[in-house]
Amino acid sequence: MNHDRLFSLFTLSGILFCYLILAGPAIADGGLDEQAEIKTGDELTSSNNTYGTVDLADHYRETAREIITAATQTHRAFDRLTYFTDYFPHRLSGSEMLENAIDWAVTELESDGIPEVRKQEVMVPHWVRGNEFAKMVTPYEKELPMLGLGGTVNTAGEELTARTVVVESFDELEKRSNEIPGNIVVYNQPFTDYGRSVQYRVYGADRAAEHGAIGVLLRSVTPNSMGHPHTGGTRYSGEVPEIPIAAISAEDARLLHRFDRRDDPATVTLYMEAELKEESALSHNVIAEIPGSERPEEIVVIGGHIDSWDVGQGAMDDAGGVIVTWEALRLIYEMDLQPKRTIRLVLWTNEENGVMGGRAYRDKVIENGELENHQLAFEVDFGVFQPLGYGFQGPEETYRMLEPIAELMSPLRDMHLREGSYGTVDIGPLQREGVPIMGLDVDTEEYFWYHHSAKDTIDKLDPDEIAECIAAVTVMAFITADMPDRLPW
Ligand SMILES: [Zn+2]
Repeated sequence: MNHDRLFSLFTLSGILFCYLILAGPAIADGGLDEQAEIKTGDELTSSNNTYGTVDLADHYRETAREIITAATQTHRAFDRLTYFTDYFPHRLSGSEMLENAIDWAVTELESDGIPEVRKQEVMVPHWVRGNEFAKMVTPYEKELPMLGLGGTVNTAGEELTARTVVVESFDELEKRSNEIPGNIVVYNQPFTDYGRSVQYRVYGADRAAEHGAIGVLLRSVTPNSMGHPHTGGTRYSGEVPEIPIAAISAEDARLLHRFDRRDDPATVTLYMEAELKEESALSHNVIAEIPGSERPEEIVVIGGHIDSWDVGQGAMDDAGGVIVTWEALRLIYEMDLQPKRTIRLVLWTNEENGVMGGRAYRDKVIENGELENHQLAFEVDFGVFQPLGYGFQGPEETYRMLEPIAELMSPLRDMHLREGSYGTVDIGPLQREGVPIMGLDVDTEEYFWYHHSAKDTIDKLDPDEIAECIAAVTVMAFITADMPDRLPW
């Protein structure tokens, strides 16, 4: 996930409270009408939370159980995720690795037997990192492990050496404005929550440049550091000089801060070759679908983003979301569930530094006259740890219709449906056109330990938790594609 939905992250810590309050109505586990047949078309007289004369949850309870069993009795998808991340680890937009990953996904989806698989062309920004380093040179020489932020400018072929001015906040930056000209600003902002702390990553270069800084080092946005830097997108307004910005470890940011507080500020050297190429690059969204058995024109979208940063393996961001939603589609096909509506998997490109895949998908469905037929868009991009429920943005009436579906996950664990969603950047363009959207809520305790760093690798993920994520996505995708009533918006 990137910074386009920061505001919604401000309430990250509120999730646990919200889901307790917003959990769906308690529907008794008994009372399943074993005789309830799947009825079709004109026989249906249902509305909202019913299926014919049967409660919607009761109608789908047994199918949900079967899906949960099928999803959790195998690590097949985890094995695919492992292969994917081992062979295609640095999937940065514009890279050959990303396009190879996309081609591999297409071939594999075809070998799964998915009836329709295609690529959609998308032009994406082409930023490359190049060589880079940072070191402290006084009071003694020390390497500073670093990562240039995505989109940063370079140091114009020179090594920039300057004293550091270490601040903990934008307020402190303003107060020490007279110290900044010609120097390197270091943000040692504490990690409070991702939404707040990431403001320094996104706006830190511009804010420092306003006061005459020549470069910026950022304490990595993470609650738990083991000496490694975390990258992520940054942004220039174009209204002040564009200066290079790189992330360093929280440990080194705090070291530099201590020297600053002793009135013995460290001097550092920064060298970066990062470059945004003038020409954009050709990339692709991957689209695969199972046509609906009765209303193929109506569509439920599920997916994740296939691009990543150029470090680690992008295993949780977002290869995990790709494989979880892909496996949901494959399971529905393998189990021959034949949903009434089309279920469409979209593996978006360029989420991390442009969201051009999400925008291109929206443009295409508008052009094709398909937008109004989108029932729901569901993205998984906030880690693939133990699933806790679903985050939803859309009309209240639609929310009420989805509540009983969350309740059907109870054989695995009680799962919530709550208002607001995380990890839904690629479907933001659809949401702004009115399409109801959903994200998968997972236990995010560890997510930001690894996020956008060399430590985001497959070994951090648990095959059983991934299987549970698959169960949660499959149940929601199948029922929203099969339920008698359209989700209103
Ligand atoms: Zn992501």
